[in-house]
Amino acid sequence: MLNVVIFGPPGAGKGTQSKFLIEKYNLMHISTGDILRVEIAEKTQLGLKAQELISQGKLVPDEVVIGMIQSAILKNKEVAGFIFDGFPRTLFQAKALDRLLEENNLKVDKVLFLSVDKEELIKRLLLRGKESNRPDDQDENIIRNRLDVYFDNTFPLIEFYKEQNKVAEINGVGKIDTIKEDISKEIDEIK
Ligand code: ADP
Repeated sequence: MLNVVIFGPPGAGKGTQSKFLIEKYNLMHISTGDILRVEIAEKTQLGLKAQELISQGKLVPDEVVIGMIQSAILKNKEVAGFIFDGFPRTLFQAKALDRLLEENNLKVDKVLFLSVDKEELIKRLLLRGKESNRPDDQDENIIRNRLDVYFDNTFPLIEFYKEQNKVAEINGVGKIDTIKEDISKEIDEIK
């Protein structure tokens, strides 16, 4: 199994690159954001709670997303590997992921860190907000909030993974195809 965390700020291109990776390497994509948006669309109890937090640019509680990841791992034992997108976002989540994988004799093999500067991110997210109907991409204050949450809570996780020698930093600014190639090189190295 090949398990990859695609890591980076909102708007870094994690979703775009994940789509490419699942096709090329036959991996299963687990995006906590996507799962939460399905819950919101279906107006489940979890979805309603999540919507309130997401619309303020806040994180959903750790236990909620950890539960979602746990059931996704357990339901998909036959896959070639996972891409975790939008998860982990806190140190607590990162430790829980290690534990969940370990219980299944698995581990995180690589953390692909897509780096993009803040002003570029704001531009991309506002554009995505115009093109999609994601409410959390439509308001610059909410976007700035999410970026603050990222830099305060999520970015420090890079140290956790660097200590384990798992981080590959990829320049997330440039042609999508160039970024795809850079990512492929990293994955081919560990395969
Ligand atoms: P982004 O483009 O901000 O990376 P996502 O689609 O990954 O967007 O997530 C959208 C929102 O869902 C986040 O802003 C957050 O509120 C919530 N969310 C997603 N994943 C997590 C997580 N692992 N922990 C807590 N909240 C999460």
